[in-house]
Amino acid sequence: MTAGGADRGQYDAVVIGSGFGGAVAAYQLVRGTQLRVLLLERGMPYPPGSFARTPRGMRRSFWDPTAGLHGLYELWSFSKVRAVVASGLGGGSLIYANVMLRKPPDTFGADPSNDDMAWPVPHSELVDEYRDAERVMQPNPLPPEYLGADPLQDGVPKTEQFLDAARSAGLEPQLAPIAVTFRARRGRGRTDGPPSPGVPFGEDNLHGCVRHTCTLVGECDLGCNQGAKNSLDYTYLDRFLKDGGDRAQVFTCCEATRIEPAAGGYRVHYVEHAAAREIVARRRRAHPAGAELLDPDTDDEAGPWSRAVTAKVVIVAAGTFGSTRLLLASRPGLPGLSAQLGRRFSTNGDLLTFARDCRDPGGDGWRDLAPSAGPVITAYAEHQSGGRRLWMEDAGGPALSEWLWQTAELPRDLWSQRRALGSLVRGHHGGRISRIVARSFGSAAASSAMLPMLTMGQDVSGGRFRLQGDGLSLDWDPDGASSSYFRAAEDLSDRFARHLGGRPSPPLFARWSRGVTAHPLGGCPMGHDIRTGVVDAHGEVFAYPGLFVADGSIMPGPVGPNPSLTIAALAGRIGKAALRRATA
Ligand SMILES: Cc1cc2nc3c(=O)[nH]c(=O)nc-3n(C[C@H](O)[C@H](O)[C@H](O)COP(=O)(O)OP(=O)(O)OC[C@H]3O[C@@H](n4cnc5c(N)ncnc54)[C@H](O)[C@@H]3O)c2cc1C
Ligand code: SF4
Repeated sequence: MTAGGADRGQYDAVVIGSGFGGAVAAYQLVRGTQLRVLLLERGMPYPPGSFARTPRGMRRSFWDPTAGLHGLYELWSFSKVRAVVASGLGGGSLIYANVMLRKPPDTFGADPSNDDMAWPVPHSELVDEYRDAERVMQPNPLPPEYLGADPLQDGVPKTEQFLDAARSAGLEPQLAPIAVTFRARRGRGRTDGPPSPGVPFGEDNLHGCVRHTCTLVGECDLGCNQGAKNSLDYTYLDRFLKDGGDRAQVFTCCEATRIEPAAGGYRVHYVEHAAAREIVARRRRAHPAGAELLDPDTDDEAGPWSRAVTAKVVIVAAGTFGSTRLLLASRPGLPGLSAQLGRRFSTNGDLLTFARDCRDPGGDGWRDLAPSAGPVITAYAEHQSGGRRLWMEDAGGPALSEWLWQTAELPRDLWSQRRALGSLVRGHHGGRISRIVARSFGSAAASSAMLPMLTMGQDVSGGRFRLQGDGLSLDWDPDGASSSYFRAAEDLSDRFARHLGGRPSPPLFARWSRGVTAHPLGGCPMGHDIRTGVVDAHGEVFAYPGLFVADGSIMPGPVGPNPSLTIAALAGRIGKAALRRATA
């Protein structure tokens, strides 16, 4: 080792991971304090324009350093569960669908008949934290100007049709609060002007790049190349660096591997991924106004480099898989960890389904739902079944996904146009072939008279992780204790599909979808004591003062609605508790 070697010295606090937990907790530690705080993030920063859109770019956009991959998506597959999470500065906010809903107050209460619903934190203690997180992330509904208009003229047709279908199903739908910028902003305030796609604003951010207002292209889950999403890099992480000044540092491309007690706190061992570092350094040279997001001290030898840092307070916020794996791997040095470590996994009841071949009410025509027009999620409706709450939302995807869905209709379209296509081959068309080619697209119903739908809610957090090599195994079966929840979710989505004038997903698809999640939770659950949880109601690890966990892994059960706002609210509270420890 050269230039400083493996030991990166002592900080007041180290935060591991920059998603909703890590970014919010890190900001609490520097706001109005004198603490020196280091944030370690394994992934790279993603300035506007850096998200892949081509097959060539996508093949490098996955995370597996052992295979030389340092990209955005980390995919997990267990025997009955498949999941996607993000790796990058801003964590899941880079690829999430921007929905920021509060967990309803009545879902916090202890219910002796149902352990999963007992939360150690009362709702009343999160009210201010929710409000603070909303103030920073600025979720707002899709502007009314976009409702019902033609998608070719900045319209989002799916939203009103979703709202109507929900009302006709007897529900009370709402526009979803989404953390997206639709109107150009000056400074931190929003203008009152009309929304306008593609307007530049706000280049004073940690990337040093100009952002643009939402262009309604449904690419939120691929990363927003406009910078229109109010993701954590533009919000909490930007504030962490600005408010913290030279006391706040972010080292991207640095992956924590182990934590152990050390004099004055804890030592965090990590590796710096040299290949990813090189990409980040190159991007920074292209945008020199951006913040320094790499360890300035580096080595001459080929990486990855092993390093360690010590701190009085450590906040683990590496996400459900990352934090659980890190604590399981650290158990030899932290033998007093609760036996609950690895337990209480849930998928937050995720179920992805489709309404297909939707027809206009009372008419013969196809509906135009244009699922790629607008942000990915724009509306939601709540439902109760068997004492459990469910949330149903519209979904969408990029224009490319419409082309993919359209291939399902291709054989039918080509068959219906067989005569015209025959005349094309035989040359009997008088040279004018536009009409023939246009008709070969058929009705385009497979891609536009359809709507992906996402249901989530209060399933049962029965899963258990174990360490398997340097990965994880997961024992969880959606057809076990959660099966009645999933039946209710399938019924709800079938009803919705019919109220949209369409057909539900094939039952086999819905069955498969039961184990697919974008909202993995649990593994380091909160509890009242070491017998019932890994961390207490302030995120501090039982038996290890000064060691905290602040992310989706501490959820003792499903959040119900989309979890990011609740993770952020809890992380605000945990950051304050960690601050008290650091300054004690
Ligand atoms: C496609 C998609 C759409 C979604 N849409 C929504 C939505 O609309 N609303 C909503 O509320 N939720 C949504 N989610 C879920 C949401 O993104 C997650 O619930 C949330 O990001 C979890 O926050 P977290 O802090 O627990 O972890 P994460 O946000 O996953 O952050 C963990 C961070 O830690 C880093 N990390 C991991 N291991 C290490 C390590 N060893 N060392 C250093 N760093 C490490 C990771 O790279 C990552 O940046 C969506 C998720 C996906 C995948
Ligand atoms: S719809 Fe497009 S521009 Fe708007 S937030 Fe999503 S990805 Fe960004």
